[in-house]
Amino acid sequence: MPTFFHTSLEFLKGVGPQRAALLQKELGLFTFGDLIQYYPFRHEDRTRFYKIKEVAQTIDEISTGIQVKGTINGFQTIGTGFKKRLTGTFKDETGSMELVWFQRINWILDKIKLNTPYIIFGKPNLFGNKISIAHPEIEPITTGNESRGYLHPVYNVTEKLRARHLDSKVISKLMAVLLPLAQNHIRETLPAGLLKQHNLADKRMALQNIHLPQSEALLNQARYRLKFEELFYIQLRLIKMKLVRQDKFKGMVFNDTAILTQFYKEHLPFDLTEAQKRVIREIYTDMKSGKQMNRLLQGDVGSGKTIVAFICMLLAVGGGAQATLMAPTEILAQQHYANLKKYADKMGIGIALLTGSVKKSQRKPIHYALEDGSLKILVGTHALLEEGVKFNKLGLAIIDEQHRFGVAQRSKLWQKNATVFPHVLVMTATPIPRTLAMTLYGDLEISVIDELPKGRKPIKTTHRYDSHRLQVNGFIKTQLDKGRQAYIVYPLIDESEKLDLKHLMDGYESISRAFPDVPVSIVHGQMKPEAKDYEMARFVKGETKIMVATTVIEVGVDVPNASVMIIESAERFGLSQLHQLRGRVGRGAEQSYCILMTGNKLSADSRVRIETMVKTNNGFEISETDLKLRGPGDLMGTQQSGALDLLIADLGKDGEILKVAREAATEILQADPTLDKPENQVVRQQVESLKRTVVNWSRIS
Ligand code: ADP
Ligand code: MG
Repeated sequence: MPTFFHTSLEFLKGVGPQRAALLQKELGLFTFGDLIQYYPFRHEDRTRFYKIKEVAQTIDEISTGIQVKGTINGFQTIGTGFKKRLTGTFKDETGSMELVWFQRINWILDKIKLNTPYIIFGKPNLFGNKISIAHPEIEPITTGNESRGYLHPVYNVTEKLRARHLDSKVISKLMAVLLPLAQNHIRETLPAGLLKQHNLADKRMALQNIHLPQSEALLNQARYRLKFEELFYIQLRLIKMKLVRQDKFKGMVFNDTAILTQFYKEHLPFDLTEAQKRVIREIYTDMKSGKQMNRLLQGDVGSGKTIVAFICMLLAVGGGAQATLMAPTEILAQQHYANLKKYADKMGIGIALLTGSVKKSQRKPIHYALEDGSLKILVGTHALLEEGVKFNKLGLAIIDEQHRFGVAQRSKLWQKNATVFPHVLVMTATPIPRTLAMTLYGDLEISVIDELPKGRKPIKTTHRYDSHRLQVNGFIKTQLDKGRQAYIVYPLIDESEKLDLKHLMDGYESISRAFPDVPVSIVHGQMKPEAKDYEMARFVKGETKIMVATTVIEVGVDVPNASVMIIESAERFGLSQLHQLRGRVGRGAEQSYCILMTGNKLSADSRVRIETMVKTNNGFEISETDLKLRGPGDLMGTQQSGALDLLIADLGKDGEILKVAREAATEILQADPTLDKPENQVVRQQVESLKRTVVNWSRIS
């Protein structure tokens, strides 16, 4: 049923076929509905006029455009050719300032009259002690505009749109045409009870005021309401998924803790941290609930996720079922296997490793033992997902480093049990800010290990410039002399791969020269996997003392004897990546060090990243800063950014609104899981309509 909001933009007065095609191509705007939801990213304050004296006094606080009334008393042309510019002296009764033009000089000289009242608008800058505005907007004072007050919306447009005269101003004019037409078609999309409870503006008012606000207060109300609505429907969908799953999918009941007691008493090598205990309780509660567990376990590097994983596996094994752990790489799978095997052997529990490189002849017995149930724990890579791998009774599936696996693979693992899905625990060592976790994994329960084992020495992080290389080498030497090992990591980023590879090779050579008697390994992405694994293994065994590498060593690798992490061109890494790399050291009892090497020139953002790293070891704090610097899409990588393409809410800033919206969605679904109550019909309708838009989109693009 086509409605007003499905009308093609072509038919809006002032658009037409050509502009409609441009808006489609550049901004993905097809319909009236799309345009009305194309929200401005900020507003310019034109509710007030500044006096020039006031501008002079508060210039430090003025970060956006402002408007001033006054007259131009004279023009001056300075310089010639490329450097030619025009200045005008602009005055009001309190003082004077300068207006500057670098382009369209003749047009200005022709059109602007001296000693005539104008309103100018622009962002003032201070040069020496002179205030100036470059390329101000300028319009004659009329009875209509002298006392007007409004907040002027600013829309994101592309270069191409601007070149075709479809700039932010034009979009705001289109909005002014569309809004009055739309008035009677706008329907409320949140239930009345919710509006009242959370004091939210109604939809009509919100759409009007987000674009063309009557006042700052109304703008804020509109913005809050629209952010709330967006986050509410995202959360509603996720929570619904979760509830449906809990409702539909039974889980195996594991409530026999005898095996745990035995392990705790006889084999637990250390006291668990409070955080580990809490998380184990949370998981245990799920696994005995009779419903299928879907839980995300977050814990910073070194927080001790492996033992937690093993204890949960024990719970399944103690209940007569099997457990599996899937890791994203061969090396990681091997390490998990080695770590878990130590515990499993003590308990006399069968455990095996299955990766791509396990030979066919060795697979057969694993397949058999899995199917007849005598093999209890299987660790591996994607190879676990192959057809031939059949469990007798899979009770728990653990997935390490989730962000490297797609959701499709996650569900494939579930289906390894035909009748009852196994409990699923997703583990990640990449701390994700709460707001992101709630959005990306909002359909999962979340557990966090937010505490490191006692006695761990925090890694000491310092920043050194390239010019201090000799000193840094001297420091590496003192650590090697103590029997330690060191990593030296180089950036390797696709576009400039050749150049980066050269830097890496140069670095390798100069290190080999600086440490002629020290065996050095090198590992990078262009090497064959076998060669890579071979070099890694030599370093793990301590045969080589220095590892020169690209970020391939980022994930999970565990060499407790390595105590130095040098990161070259650290300014080129993202914060989360720096933190991950740093996590490769500090795994043993020794004091560990991370040295961030950079050039002398640093951008403001790079400086914040480096300073944050030096200041804190806390992964969650780091990921919050990263979120603020980069925004959610970049933080999580493009593959998931689709889920994070929000119309108005900002996960970096709107954590509070998100929390409230999620609670509201939970309350509604708990009281009315199928959204059948009359007061929830508007929610139901909106869910349907959002589904349709998603479908439409995929069809079009
Ligand atoms: P991650 O969370 O990064 O996977 P691991 O599970 O590899 O961390 O644990 C890191 C190191 O800390 C391991 O050597 C592990 O044996 C040790 N460890 C784990 N929990 C504790 C604890 N409660 N007390 C002392 N050491 C612990
Ligand atoms: Mg680990």
